Amino acid sequence: MVEYTTIDQYHLALTQGSTSCAEVVHHYLSQIEKSKHLNAFVHVFAEEAIQKASALDERRKAGNAIGKLHGVVIAIKDVICYKGHPLTAASGILKNFTSLYSATAIEKLLQEEAIIIGVCNCDEFAMGSANENSVYGNVLNAMDESRVPGGSSGGSAVAVQAGLCMVSLGSDTGGSVRQPADFCGIVGLKPTYGRISRYGLIAYASSFDQIGIFANNVDDTSKVLEIIAGADEYDSTVSQKPIEKYSEVLKEKKKNRFYDSTVSQKPIEKYSEVLKEKKKNRFAYFKETLEHPSLDTEIADGINKLIEQIKSEGHEVAALSFEYLDYIVPAYYILTTAEASSNLSRYDGVRYGYRSAKPSTDLTEFYKHNRSEGFGKEVKRRIMLGTFVLSTGYYDAYFAKAQKVRRKLVEKTQLVFNEFDFILMPTSPSVAFKIGEKTDDPIAMYLADIYTVFANLTGIPGISLPLFKHSNGMPFGIQLMAKQFNELSLLQASQHLMELKK
Ligand code: GLN
Repeated sequence: MVEYTTIDQYHLALTQGSTSCAEVVHHYLSQIEKSKHLNAFVHVFAEEAIQKASALDERRKAGNAIGKLHGVVIAIKDVICYKGHPLTAASGILKNFTSLYSATAIEKLLQEEAIIIGVCNCDEFAMGSANENSVYGNVLNAMDESRVPGGSSGGSAVAVQAGLCMVSLGSDTGGSVRQPADFCGIVGLKPTYGRISRYGLIAYASSFDQIGIFANNVDDTSKVLEIIAGADEYDSTVSQKPIEKYSEVLKEKKKNRFYDSTVSQKPIEKYSEVLKEKKKNRFAYFKETLEHPSLDTEIADGINKLIEQIKSEGHEVAALSFEYLDYIVPAYYILTTAEASSNLSRYDGVRYGYRSAKPSTDLTEFYKHNRSEGFGKEVKRRIMLGTFVLSTGYYDAYFAKAQKVRRKLVEKTQLVFNEFDFILMPTSPSVAFKIGEKTDDPIAMYLADIYTVFANLTGIPGISLPLFKHSNGMPFGIQLMAKQFNELSLLQASQHLMELKK
């Protein structure tokens, strides 16, 4: 098979007849088989994918126009509904459950003729940072199998990293796409809250959750984003804003210039001068994030060097102070566990899901048996934490206070974006850590989310770009964030940074 590079190149190869969807699907199925020990997939739809591929090949050869994702092989996280296919959120409580409908994002992929090859492992109900909280067991990082792939979308990240599919979908509530992308050396995008419909995404913390994209490059990321983003009558929180043609604009690849998609399209008299001004982008970073004691010094060095490189290109890079860094992880864990405690109350063993064999004398006992046996340890910890912070007497001290922190962060972010186009941050304080290294210390695990939860608390888009390699051989990236719904600028800047590092 021709080595996979981008969706565009793949489509070119298809139209030239140098490959076929069927050949490609067979290739990925055999790779999945060979990489079984990585535990990235929990279900593979082999027969279905082969049939779909052959049907697409026939249709294309008959001269029909091809869909934008024609034959693109995609894997999805086990929290996204795909009608008639298993869906378990990597939890015992949803064992043997089958989706009754498809998520809007899935419908849109299928409309454009994508092939969904299987469902990927993840942390139970997307709660975790190492993919060690799954009922199916942990996932191995393909670059060093003694290390975690990150979480919670660890399986989706490894599926792309190990060449088991072309792109994959994950979900990002506090970093679950960006952090595993960082640990696996690939691109991971969390769009603006409300850019992609959450209909059919199993809820963890509804005011944070967003479907995200894993890919080998920025071009593929933008192509998938423009397909799955956009208004949806089934999700009242999704934005009505039209979707920009991310991939087409990216193709223009104007060197050294990241257009501002919010800038007016009206003709301007001194156009050339304005363009010259636009050449310079304004990047900000928070001093405290690069000086934080938990940050690996090589990661800090890498980012500092990149900052110098960006400056040398004539862009502005400013160090701002950020007084809230120590509050963001606590605020995130208070708010998300509170929302989770409510969202997960529906899993009671009555309507669906796991039902305990133990006899119960009343309904409360029945629920207790089902839920204590069905849920794993981390999910139970979070349900209890969330219930506690919402309880009378503690609500003001915890939940209400965390809401205030969130508001302050949103205000601060608005101020930053009044002056700057992008915020630069590490994605994670360390490279992928060893399996089991943090399992016994949930607080240490939570604190490692220090750089990713900011984008979810404020709703802004964030992307992790695989730009660096640590002396221990593991990859690490940089995180770039932009103003809400400014995905276009974010993707353009990302593409530029990727080229800069080549
Ligand atoms: N690591 C974070 C958590 O455990 C993020 C999870 C996510 O984004 N789904 O909550």
